Amino acid sequence: MPVFLHDLTFNELRDLLVADGLRPVHVKAVWNALHFRAETDLAARTDWVPPLQRWVAEKVSGIGEGGYRLDHLAVAAHIPSGDGLTQKYLLRLQDGQEIETVIMGYTGRHTVCVSTQAGCAMGCVFCATGQMGFVRHLRPGEIVGQVLHAQRILRAKGERLRNIVLMGMGEPLHNYDNVMKALDMISDTRGCNIGPSKISVSTVGVVPGILRLAAEARPYNLAISLHGSTEAERAALIPANQRWPLAELMAACRTYGETTGRRIFFAWTLIAGVNDTPEHARRVVALLQGIDAHLNLIPLNETAGYEGRESVEAAGDVFQRIVLEAGIPCTVRQRRGIDVAAGCGQLKAEKKKRRQGEAAAIMV
Ligand code: SAH
Ligand code: SF4
Repeated sequence: MPVFLHDLTFNELRDLLVADGLRPVHVKAVWNALHFRAETDLAARTDWVPPLQRWVAEKVSGIGEGGYRLDHLAVAAHIPSGDGLTQKYLLRLQDGQEIETVIMGYTGRHTVCVSTQAGCAMGCVFCATGQMGFVRHLRPGEIVGQVLHAQRILRAKGERLRNIVLMGMGEPLHNYDNVMKALDMISDTRGCNIGPSKISVSTVGVVPGILRLAAEARPYNLAISLHGSTEAERAALIPANQRWPLAELMAACRTYGETTGRRIFFAWTLIAGVNDTPEHARRVVALLQGIDAHLNLIPLNETAGYEGRESVEAAGDVFQRIVLEAGIPCTVRQRRGIDVAAGCGQLKAEKKKRRQGEAAAIMV
């Protein structure tokens, strides 16, 4: 297995380079090239000092045993939305796996939605990634690589990346160590320099991960995908509820809130007739009592593998009013880029469908 330089924190990179005979000043230059300038080919630089030039030629350009590599993710597909506000990328990893990265936003305020796994083991019935199943965890460099990809695209347009949300494919807290290492690098002031308060980790409710975030005082925003207001209702949508029941999840949220003093963002995907009635809204209010919470209502993105339908707007409005009247901040997330299949995992699912369609056409 070659060493991927984007897998290494600053200190790890320093140890590697010093072992290779380079000096600390060279470490800063390499880190700057990797994480600040987001360069894709270190050998293309003409201004390296001679020791670095030799190191790059000997170690980084070689792809044989012992060679170092960069996580420069190849674009397998790029689909911009009709309104120009969403750019969806299917990025290919070195082993051929494909993941989704989405750039969203208006001029000057861009958010990148990043994947943390290829596929997902949690199996949420409404989610295109869940329908795919689990393939593997992403390495830290593969997570950082998505952010650097977004940086390059935005910089070329003179625009800036402001926020990172871990709401792409995969469950971040199922890949805790790699995700935290990636976030340490992404928030490093010598590199991408995205402040921790601009980074949000979204989880389906992996209780041990939530408690670990609190115990380690991780400075990121936490979003919890709730979607169900009773054990049975939630388990029907989110199989992981059997492992970490709603009652345990809410207890973990209380502990997290008390330990960190942070507000928690809860997500609720509105599914017609399933979880969008006034009764559901009142039960959510009861669940969130005593927690500094913000509820985000998200219209369902309909997927091929799930028969549920998007709620009508009026149901969402009533739901929101009930939550707001109980004193809990509540917003309806605007749906953007529906024409690019912006829902989690949907681009990959559609591409597969197209390929299967093409294969079927050839077979006929
Ligand atoms: N695994 C994490 C983060 C990735 S999913 C989690 O589940 O929180 C990011 C968000 O997209 C979650 O809130 C998830 O419930 C939501 N989501 C997934 N599929 C969706 C769909 N088809 N329509 C609307 N929201 C969806
Ligand atoms: Fe995994 Fe999140 Fe999709 Fe559930 S919603 S299957 S946890 S990516």
